[in-house]
Amino acid sequence: MSNDCLFCKIIAGHLPATVVYRDERVLAIRDIHPVAPTHVLLMPVRHLTSMAEAEAGDADLIGSLHLTAVMLAGREKLSRGYRLVVNTGPDGGQTVGHLHVHLIGGRAMHWPPG
Ligand code: AMP
Ligand code: ZN
Repeated sequence: MSNDCLFCKIIAGHLPATVVYRDERVLAIRDIHPVAPTHVLLMPVRHLTSMAEAEAGDADLIGSLHLTAVMLAGREKLSRGYRLVVNTGPDGGQTVGHLHVHLIGGRAMHWPPG
């Protein structure tokens, strides 16, 4: 756990969140400022700052984050599709320094992103 990390505090139960899924490695919560009818954040339970810090040994974990997102998309009935986003670093739009996958769906998305 990183003491000054917002998502580590949520994972530790020190801050509230709406948890939609949890296992030993992955936590999924509802985004506090949803940009679509479904907006879930999936994060590793172990602190990892961003994709830029990921290593070869994190491959299973990163796969699990994405496959769990697909499973939750099914639960959320996103049969028309959805978007998985991993903002990375300042230019990537990352505002919380704990790796997370956005699962966004329930409306049509646009491209290119802003
Ligand atoms: P990013 O900009 O990719 O780092 O995404 C961070 C996301 O975390 C944003 O979509 C925020 O709305 C969301 N967020 C920030 N604080 C909280 C919180 N306390 N609970 C749930 N989601 C949060
Ligand atoms: Zn953290």
